[in-house]
Amino acid sequence: MSRIAENLAEVQGRIARAAQRAGRDPREVRLVAVSKTFSAADIREATAAGVKILGENYVQEVRAKMAQLSDLPLSWHFIGRLQTNKAKDVVQGFDLIHSLDRLKLARELDRRAGAQARRVPVLIQVNLAGEETKGGVGRGECLDLIEAAAAMENLDVEGLMTMPPFFNAPERVRPFFVDLRHLAEEARESTGLALPELSMGMSGDFEAAVEEGATLVRVGTAIFGQR
Ligand SMILES: *Cc1c(COP(=O)(O)O)cnc(C)c1O
Repeated sequence: MSRIAENLAEVQGRIARAAQRAGRDPREVRLVAVSKTFSAADIREATAAGVKILGENYVQEVRAKMAQLSDLPLSWHFIGRLQTNKAKDVVQGFDLIHSLDRLKLARELDRRAGAQARRVPVLIQVNLAGEETKGGVGRGECLDLIEAAAAMENLDVEGLMTMPPFFNAPERVRPFFVDLRHLAEEARESTGLALPELSMGMSGDFEAAVEEGATLVRVGTAIFGQR
């Protein structure tokens, strides 16, 4: 068994046990293997071991990998910070954009999607701790952005995403996961949207995220190794 296959099996086992602890069906949690900076060969290995969804941050980097891996039935998710002038590049080829965090970007994605006759599924990224170095809409503006994006012709708002502070400190991060779940509950109530997806949890804290309701966990180093 390769190292990536071993790591993957361990991560999958930990997700399943975390789900069980919380009384959830492990199948409600989808694993996004974050492959930024890793090669097409590494991704191929992960795919052979059972990975189905890849998470990538950089538009330029991912295009080359997509071309090299076009023979595989992979689903690509965009999870990185997105400049408005790159919106046109992610409308095609990605099944979900986790990082919609401002109105201007929503408008541009919608416009580009319309031009290509596509629908673009998105998550709204929320910056719960108000960290200046990170993307994400502030929690106070979150509802407005959800409503505005959902009203656009070509966007499907499927839920929320967050990237909290305190890497590798699950118990310090847990309150942010609880917070995101509550925010989604409020948003469902006030907008009537289903908003089924909660994208939260990374290598250092995905078990806490699963216990708190994550439906998508974004795990890189625990699968592929150090970047
Ligand atoms: C890199 C990255 C991850 C994965 O981080 P790891 O600690 O390697 O698991 C998850 N989400 C986002 C948005 C990232 O940029």
